[in-house]
Amino acid sequence: MTPTPASQKLFDRALAVSPGGVNSPVRAFRAVGGTPIFMKSGSGAWLTDVDGKTYVDLVGSWGPMLLGHAHPEVLAAVDSAVALGTSFGTPSEPEVLLAEEIVARTSVDSVRLVSSGTEATMSAIRLARGFTGRDKIVKFAGCYHGHVDALLAEAGSGVVTLGIPGTPGVPAHVTADTIVLPFNDRAAVEAAFAEYGAEIACLITEAAPGNMGVVPPAPGFNAFLSEICTANGALFISDEVMTGFRVTSAGHWGVDGKVEGWSPDLVTFGKVMGGGFPAAAFGGRADVMNLLAPVGPVYQAGTLSGNPIATTAGLATLKLATPDSYGRLDATSAELQRLVGEALTAEGVEHIVQNAGNMFSVFWGVTDRVANFADAQEQEAWRYKAFFHAMLDAGVYLPPSAFECWFVSAAHDAEALSRIAEALPSAARAAARAEKDN
Ligand SMILES: *Cc1c(COP(=O)(O)O)cnc(C)c1O
Repeated sequence: MTPTPASQKLFDRALAVSPGGVNSPVRAFRAVGGTPIFMKSGSGAWLTDVDGKTYVDLVGSWGPMLLGHAHPEVLAAVDSAVALGTSFGTPSEPEVLLAEEIVARTSVDSVRLVSSGTEATMSAIRLARGFTGRDKIVKFAGCYHGHVDALLAEAGSGVVTLGIPGTPGVPAHVTADTIVLPFNDRAAVEAAFAEYGAEIACLITEAAPGNMGVVPPAPGFNAFLSEICTANGALFISDEVMTGFRVTSAGHWGVDGKVEGWSPDLVTFGKVMGGGFPAAAFGGRADVMNLLAPVGPVYQAGTLSGNPIATTAGLATLKLATPDSYGRLDATSAELQRLVGEALTAEGVEHIVQNAGNMFSVFWGVTDRVANFADAQEQEAWRYKAFFHAMLDAGVYLPPSAFECWFVSAAHDAEALSRIAEALPSAARAAARAEKDN
């Protein structure tokens, strides 16, 4: 491993004043070993760490940086907004413009802006329970919907990376109403609704899961979920925090919702729509949304919700995310998937690359397609450790976990791809030679 003394020094100080030295567990290097890299700046597809080393970034702040870092037009919009003041605690124009953009692009009639994806899913579930007068919720194993108590049952992302079985601090009665099912399994969903149909407030799913690695829904699966919810008087919540405005201008709904004719009752958004600032949203059918305070009795609020800087950055990002950008993102992602696949095959590393639009990930040591969380957990995640560090040494920043999605941006160009292509052969060799640790 290349020494990174400035990162090491900051990490030691961080450890002294914060748990694990990080403010979100997914940033830790627990699953891959070593010291987290402290980044100092970003520009386009590139990050520069505090030791001055550069990396091609394939994390993109875990999804938000659709256009790459420090896009000049986004920065200019933010600068102008900052000069006008940073928070008023009153309605302001940028939040209306962002809400109009979201409503125009997606299936939702109405949106409420919040500050994180967690807040969006938490509020959507409260609203679904308020609307239906029911308590039970259905989720899928391996799907991550933020750190909402009731949704941490068999969650993906950092929960699976760290191998946390349930989360202490979440009382058993809070998850007692959460039914966890295997993804892509129609029979399991039918059985759950047959038994509990009249008690189920909602089913929540990632529109195309990216938090157990990328596991796309089987054709027709979202439409099936939507239908069975409607038939049972439950609401269908599509979590597009990761996929929204990333895989198409309308999110994953734009991929199969329009074609298969399903539409969610509620949708959650985040990541891209904040343009690198804390902004998220939930929205949906007007009759459901109008149950929210101040119109209806379901309470939901936020001091910084619809913050003028965050909404300005989000709107600037969405305005720059044109059909042309999505075409480029898809092409870059496809090229990268090809390069990774070829490098691993050349070294005899068994693997499968799965994608949902331009989101993709690699499953190590598996030969069949991964359809759910149980399949995902069969992978040889230990091979990824060796691969990850070889790539990091060669200046490519990947998610420090085999269970996370790789993100490209519209700024990933030929130069960025060639840095990755140069790094791949020796990283693939490292993965081939890796030995399982216990
Ligand atoms: C990231 C994510 C969340 C949580 O969003 P935060 O802003 O981290 O709270 C929720 N759902 C999905 C699908 C996500 O990818």
